[in-house]
Amino acid sequence: MTQQITRSGLDEAVKRSPNKWVYLFSEGNANMRDLLGGKGAGVAEMTNAGLPVPPGFTITTQACNAYYDSGKQFPQGMWEQVLEGVKIIEQQTGKGFGNQENPLLVSVRSGAKFSMPGMMDTVLNLGINDETVKGLVKLTGDERFAYDAYRRFIQMFSKIVLDTDPRDFEHVLDTYKERAGVASDAEIPADALKKLVVEFKQIAERQSGEPFPTDVYTQLHKAIEAVFASWNNKRAIDYRNFNKIPHNLGTAVNVQSMVFGNMGNDSGTGVAFTRNPSTGEEQLYGEYLLNAQGEDVVAGIRTPSKIARLQQDLPHVYEQFKEIARRLEQHYHDVQDLEFTVENGRLYMLQTRSGKRTAQAAVKIAVDMVREGLISEQEAVKRVEPIQVYQLLLPRFDESEKEKAEEEGRLLARGLNASPGAATGKAIFDADRAELLGKSGTPVILVRPETSPDDVHGMLVAKGILTQHGGATSHAAVVARGLGLPCVAGSEDIRVHEEERLFRVVGSDTVIHEGDDISIDGATGQVFAGIIKTVDADFEKEADLKKLLGWADSIRKLGVWANADYPRDAKRAVMFGAEGIGLCRTEHMFMEQERLPIVQEMILAETKEERQAALDQLLPFQRSDFKGIFEAMVNPKTGEGYPVVIRLIDPPLHEFLPSYEELLVDVTRLETNGQNPQELKEKRKMLEAVGVMREMNPMLGLRGCRLGLLYPEINIMQTRAILEAALELAREGKKLHPKIMIPLVGHVNELKEVRRELEAVAKEITAEAGTSVEYKFGTMIELPRAALTAGQIAAVAEFFSFGTNDLTQTTFGISRDDAEGKFLLKYVDGLEEPGTTERVKILPVNPFQTLDREGVGQLVRMAVENGRKANPDLEVGICGEHGGDPDSIEFCNEVGLDYVSCSPFRVPVARLAAAQAALVGGEKDK
Ligand code: ADP
Ligand code: MG
Ligand code: MG
Repeated sequence: MTQQITRSGLDEAVKRSPNKWVYLFSEGNANMRDLLGGKGAGVAEMTNAGLPVPPGFTITTQACNAYYDSGKQFPQGMWEQVLEGVKIIEQQTGKGFGNQENPLLVSVRSGAKFSMPGMMDTVLNLGINDETVKGLVKLTGDERFAYDAYRRFIQMFSKIVLDTDPRDFEHVLDTYKERAGVASDAEIPADALKKLVVEFKQIAERQSGEPFPTDVYTQLHKAIEAVFASWNNKRAIDYRNFNKIPHNLGTAVNVQSMVFGNMGNDSGTGVAFTRNPSTGEEQLYGEYLLNAQGEDVVAGIRTPSKIARLQQDLPHVYEQFKEIARRLEQHYHDVQDLEFTVENGRLYMLQTRSGKRTAQAAVKIAVDMVREGLISEQEAVKRVEPIQVYQLLLPRFDESEKEKAEEEGRLLARGLNASPGAATGKAIFDADRAELLGKSGTPVILVRPETSPDDVHGMLVAKGILTQHGGATSHAAVVARGLGLPCVAGSEDIRVHEEERLFRVVGSDTVIHEGDDISIDGATGQVFAGIIKTVDADFEKEADLKKLLGWADSIRKLGVWANADYPRDAKRAVMFGAEGIGLCRTEHMFMEQERLPIVQEMILAETKEERQAALDQLLPFQRSDFKGIFEAMVNPKTGEGYPVVIRLIDPPLHEFLPSYEELLVDVTRLETNGQNPQELKEKRKMLEAVGVMREMNPMLGLRGCRLGLLYPEINIMQTRAILEAALELAREGKKLHPKIMIPLVGHVNELKEVRRELEAVAKEITAEAGTSVEYKFGTMIELPRAALTAGQIAAVAEFFSFGTNDLTQTTFGISRDDAEGKFLLKYVDGLEEPGTTERVKILPVNPFQTLDREGVGQLVRMAVENGRKANPDLEVGICGEHGGDPDSIEFCNEVGLDYVSCSPFRVPVARLAAAQAALVGGEKDK
């Protein structure tokens, strides 16, 4: 009855406002995350499910955005609605906000649509002042508790709202503990706490330059503003950048009546996952503290107990919590991450959200939940991030060794989990030394305050990177991810002293000196002292992963092929599920020791005959290379082979010759000492040849199909080797589908001529053999002109493969080798804006990692369309590195490629990403 009266007060206030800014928990639900944030939607859903949630209301994300839009003013009507909301909480709890007899205290909690744990701010115990604290004493009969709540409030409010330095408070708190001769905050006696409160207020006033607010509504007003403001603190911005969360969502603010876990030993607070977030096992997993308030569990002041112990400490509460956890998981069809508080033996739920999990757990949970009938196979495929599949296949720390290390107190610090993977090595504090040791084979972890391009040479050889400063988009993080190196960035738990070559662990005596072994886990952000054993992933044993990928295969439309130059890589690719080779590069075969001299003879040949003689020697090598690759791609049971795309010789020939500079030095030396005229003669000849071949821009010089046009004999030999290998296997009953790819075509005439020549050879060879083999000729699309004239080119090509590495280079006019170290990563990281801490981002991502849809992508799209128009049977794939990048794969699916081809280790990633792309595409079509 009374509730209805006050609720209509809120309704009235809403009517007078341009918008409804405030929702009671009972007015929301789980589908309102956009408006109420994840936390608000979660407590609303729990409230309506009849779970014990302390009453409260949510100020919407719209209100937050309106606040920013209007130059940091509460939008019209919001404060009035807040006041009505407070009245309702008063009614529901029977307490009064600012009431001296029976005071209502509230928490003011941030909560955006996507959970950003620990990134934004929350104030607890708000509504306390010199008067209400007395009411709290009377009410609870517990002076110690009341003043402890008060000092906590001053401490938190000062840090979050008044923006003062929290260390001063911690320092004073420590002196009080010392004076009282106690170890924990919970043991400081009431009298001391009373004095502490006075001193805390003085600190707050001194630091902020204004009286500490005693009016509870002023406290509330300021706290709401501070939570709005925390949406745009640096931590939160970095986190959103890293996790690709848009910056315009805003945060909701939850105002909720306080419950107290610090009212004695039948009270407590904790967090728990409904399943183990690191292994995925189905068991409650979490920690709690008796006689403590929310923030104590994570703050690490006291060591919490495992959740299972709650069964002994408070058996009724444990049973009730377990049942609620089960219900919530069934309700949400996903693992939940829960916060709870027990006040005098009564359980309250404070938060539920979908739980973040490791790669291993993500896969296990998704597959288990399908088995349990909780989710569909499609849903399971959506639940796992493709990059997590990649992580699963990286070497990782042995979980039990890691647990042991934690028990032994070797967990030193935490930082941002900036780039996944596990690494162990010697801590080294500068890049030069890291390079020296790394090159000599010593495993090194490069530890820096932060990294810059000057450190890249050290990063290249390090096993992992650890930095004290910098966020998820810092130089260290970006470069490490690019290199596939484990990285923990921005660990505020350590202080790196470069000159002394050591780092200290904040809040302990531990010092790590140069050369000490450390271990970092880039997936969790943990830093350990000493060595932790790593284990290699064994794909064959990952039964859950294989099952999940099997579901993905039945969903995806894109084929997944692999780039492989050697039989060993081809075999691995097939094991990972590849359905073909999209790029087999032949130049590696030329580089091998016994062959290089023959290759050089071929290049330096002065007559056609000499060249042919060298090529005749190379032919058997190449034939057996191709035979090996083909064999790896044949199903032993059916004899049916997967398609194999072989690219004819591509790099400029001087790559197979010694360097001009070195030759020049040698010749000069031989000339001066005059000791070896024979060698001098040979070197001179070589120097002359190399000199002739030298190019200003080899990348744009005599390479690719241009070579084949000038020296057709090389292409002819390679074509012969390919077809003879396929024919040999055909005689053994194995059916191969070689596809011969002609690189770097810019004009259709180039392709026409090369193809004409090779087609003739192919006919001749198959005629000689009397057996047939199904072969195709096609080209790489890797120059803008080829993409622009794809219609013409498709008329003479049976397949296209987008070589997006070169296509990106030539479209941007950026040489990757020169750019990445010098400016490209800065473009992505952001250039420093002089005199500010702002960074100007020139590029959103590295276009060599994620396909540039607006530029390069447009060329790809156009080439696919025009190519298919001219040749409806045209087969189209991608073989650039983008073929293994989930975002680029989504694009490939969208433009309708037939397959993506990527490095063998990326094949499982691509299978999952292709399935997700198909699901997203399917949703868009609806
Ligand atoms: P975060 O998003 O950083 O987890 P929360 O808003 O969840 O911040 O709050 C921080 C801590 O305070 C949590 O442990 C939470 O359970 C606790 N807490 C929040 N509101 C209340 C409340 N009304 N009563 C008791 N504890 C609370
Ligand atoms: Mg929380
Ligand atoms: Mg190329």
